[in-house]
Amino acid sequence: MVGFFRRWRRRRILRRAEWTDAQWQRAFARLPLLARLDSQERARLRDLAVLFLHDKQLHGLGTVSLTPDMKLVIALQACLPILGLDLSWYDGWRTVLVYPDDFAVEHEEVDDAGVVHRVRRHLAGEAWHDGPVILSWNDVRDAGRLDGYNLVVHEFAHKLDMRNGRANGFPPLHKGMDGRAWAADFTAAFDDFRARRLDRLPLPFDGYAAESPGEFFAVLSEVFFEQPAAIADHYPAVYRHLRDFYRQDPLARLV
Ligand SMILES: [Zn+2]
Repeated sequence: MVGFFRRWRRRRILRRAEWTDAQWQRAFARLPLLARLDSQERARLRDLAVLFLHDKQLHGLGTVSLTPDMKLVIALQACLPILGLDLSWYDGWRTVLVYPDDFAVEHEEVDDAGVVHRVRRHLAGEAWHDGPVILSWNDVRDAGRLDGYNLVVHEFAHKLDMRNGRANGFPPLHKGMDGRAWAADFTAAFDDFRARRLDRLPLPFDGYAAESPGEFFAVLSEVFFEQPAAIADHYPAVYRHLRDFYRQDPLARLV
């Protein structure tokens, strides 16, 4: 019954959606990342974006006044990671906040000597557990251009990771996936990446991935969709895990 209701509601939302063809075309044209999708995948991504925009509230802060085009650019990229999954992976929270630029966050950290410091950092994005996703429009605008960086995919990968607790690089896996192999292969890749960074060797992707296993997963998710060969070449086992988790094979789309 629940399945029936969900499907009925979903059809109704899609039928009533008022996005125009011109708006969709502009949004897809802004995102070279999506040019690799076939027509079936594009249609499914559009549906997911419509449902996403129906369920979530997007708010511009400061000088950001979100236009329909801006909303589509955010929603299409937010839904790319769940193209092979479904929207229920984003259940449990409702809000996306968009700042004009990097924003400052303050929190307290305790150092090894037990001293509490007030830390102020500038972030381009943030994903809260059971809370909002926060994005800087300046960075969203530059995303989706196949340079390996994608703020939207990054923050929403954290959201997927947090489905089973904190963002630690270990999201809930599908039936048939091997959790031990996931942990072993990601740990080996993370250790190798950190060692390369310490030795100042060339890195296959953004050094920020060395911050923590959670950031490693989020950065690799960006690279997986934007420049999949960079992962497949350096960490093939990790590529296969990401392919099985996202139920997408971006490398195959390049052929
Ligand atoms: Zn992050």
